[in-house]
Amino acid sequence: MGVPYLGLGLGGKIGGIIPRQEHINSTSDEFCHGHTFLLRPRMKTFKLLFGQIDICSIHRFNLLRYALYWCILSIPKEERRGKRLLLIYEYKVAGTPKQYAAMDEAIKITQFIRNKCLRKWMDERGVSANDLQCYCAVLAKEYSFASLLNSQARQVAADRAWFAIGRFYDNCKNHRPGKKGYPQFQHDNRSVEYKNSGWKLDPDGKHLTFTDGCGLGRLRLVGNKKQQVATFPLKQIKRIRLVKRADGYYVQFSVQAERQVKHVATGAQVGIDVGLKKLSTDSNGNTVANPRFLRKAEKKLKRLHRRFSRTRKKSANRTKARQKLGKAYLKVQRQREDFARKTANALITSHDLIAYEDLKIANMVKNHKLAKSISDAAWGQFLSWVQYYGVIHDVPVVAVAPHFTSQDCSGCGTRVKKSLSTRTHICWHCGLVLDRDHNAARNILDQALAYLEAVPWGTRKQADRAPRKASGQKTTAASQQ
Ligand SMILES: [Zn+2]
Repeated sequence: MGVPYLGLGLGGKIGGIIPRQEHINSTSDEFCHGHTFLLRPRMKTFKLLFGQIDICSIHRFNLLRYALYWCILSIPKEERRGKRLLLIYEYKVAGTPKQYAAMDEAIKITQFIRNKCLRKWMDERGVSANDLQCYCAVLAKEYSFASLLNSQARQVAADRAWFAIGRFYDNCKNHRPGKKGYPQFQHDNRSVEYKNSGWKLDPDGKHLTFTDGCGLGRLRLVGNKKQQVATFPLKQIKRIRLVKRADGYYVQFSVQAERQVKHVATGAQVGIDVGLKKLSTDSNGNTVANPRFLRKAEKKLKRLHRRFSRTRKKSANRTKARQKLGKAYLKVQRQREDFARKTANALITSHDLIAYEDLKIANMVKNHKLAKSISDAAWGQFLSWVQYYGVIHDVPVVAVAPHFTSQDCSGCGTRVKKSLSTRTHICWHCGLVLDRDHNAARNILDQALAYLEAVPWGTRKQADRAPRKASGQKTTAASQQ
């Protein structure tokens, strides 16, 4: 029975409070007790919005539960969650070649199920997320190798397919310009994810045993001694993910935990402008150099690429060359990540407000001449770490619209047109001479402050970014409203 229940017999009605029940069509007395209860529970009369009704203890409990549920739902999401985050604890995994092969197999099964689910969605109309989850069981019966993987891990694979489908639907619904991202079949999957079954963590946190049919067995965890995932209760470990990287296999524990750092107020507020020459320039004129990790590694990478392309296909040397190349890229990736995190953390700990420009990086990368430099600077990674540390330190991080931030004068607000190659801002109106990026950073801070004056931080849901400043003259909070 799929219809929502609307009446509770005995004259009284309560709309939609009782969830779906399988025995709705039975008489009211039967319904109230269900078929399985032999003893008649004590009835009590309740006065509800819809009049007086008789209700048994089971439904009293249900009513209470739903009332509680709605109370919780009415609390804003942010307050309900607090600073709850999913922390990722990562360990390298030490195992035997046989175990590594088993991991590869599990990863392949995940990819197989994801692609099969996608195929089903493409071939049939109106397939829902739930249908895909049910389809996992069908696949497990049909293909013996698929049944080796833990059932919840199979469902995660189906969720991955639905994630791609959902994103495509969202893009269509929101009329996203350009390509809508029609889901693609995956051929390079590198991870398999378990929920809360199919694995067992040793109490000392040094070994992880997988119990499903893939034959992964007991694996030793090699990792940071300061980060002990075993210190968390098992209930908080929501997912376990096995990831294959160029230099080996890793296991990630996603732990639901709270993380908050006491922020020491410094009174400093800053706007930052990200660029290619300098990674960031703040409104006080301080700069952070762009480390250009890719440019530095380019010579080595090119050599490795040449060596790789000289090898014969399917040869052992080719595999070796590929692994070396993969490791070299992994190093660049890690250097970037490390730098972005450390810089972002330093920025947040030393300031009480950060304002940045909300750049459309995906569009900027389309400029082929700058694409490599923009990607190498990793602005997006840097800014997302700034936001992350902002949440943890409880420091406001405001994004402002990027229009005219580098054109307008930060002293008087006059628009001074300049091309991308003009590195200095010279105002013909007030005579201000500043570095281009420094000027932009000051504008960004001004915009953020004007926005915060109108909408104080934390009072109501902040917009995605501060609205664009009215062109020309400097705006006050009043004129922005
Ligand atoms: Zn000026």
